[in-house]
Amino acid sequence: MDVVPGNGDTGRLGHEDCVVVFSGGQDSTTCLAQAVRDYGRGRVACITFSYGQRHGQEVAVAQKIAADFGVAAHQHRIVDLAWYGQITSSALLDPSAAMVQNPATTCPNTVVDGRNMLFLLIAAIFAKGRGVRTLITGVCQADCSGYPDCRDVFIKSCNVTLNLAMDADFRVITPLMDLTKAQTWALADRLGVLAYVAENTLTCYNGIIGRGCGTCPSCVLRQRGYAAYLADKEGRC
Ligand SMILES: [Zn+2]
Repeated sequence: MDVVPGNGDTGRLGHEDCVVVFSGGQDSTTCLAQAVRDYGRGRVACITFSYGQRHGQEVAVAQKIAADFGVAAHQHRIVDLAWYGQITSSALLDPSAAMVQNPATTCPNTVVDGRNMLFLLIAAIFAKGRGVRTLITGVCQADCSGYPDCRDVFIKSCNVTLNLAMDADFRVITPLMDLTKAQTWALADRLGVLAYVAENTLTCYNGIIGRGCGTCPSCVLRQRGYAAYLADKEGRC
């Protein structure tokens, strides 16, 4: 098998079937669990971005979770985008900024302009170098916070652009696109990882793993969905 040089380590060409854009949060962990079910342990690569996000331990959390799902270190690329905060401003990148929802735009000030486009571009470059064409991202337009680059129309447009940019046939898969947070919890339950996701993932803007701080916009959305899913599940039992 060919061994291709990576940035600092090696990857085995043709060893994986997909690349998951992976943050270690609820959504991308659910996507990773589904990818491992669909493609098999050892057949999934991950890419994680360090871009000055508030929860600085996000990368360490992502590394632990990926390892738990059988993603080897050489299959998990950590990409340093420390410069991101130099060209944009976002409450997500500024520990001193309050996180608020702008009622005029329905867009919270935690949005990071261009983030998913940048992430998908880098993920596609990484994937192509490993002979992989399937990209999986946990973006979601339902029950979401109004981020423009989480919309299905953007993802489809980006997919076309990536194909044109690299003369490739990438397939960007978004398993959560139209799921509410409650439905994403239901998916985690069907995949057998409900408790794991609840206890080990990091979505809290204040950096608290699992249940989170309970008050930031991300925690409120996550817990509302969790409660709705559990109520629905109990109602069916
Ligand atoms: Zn929180």
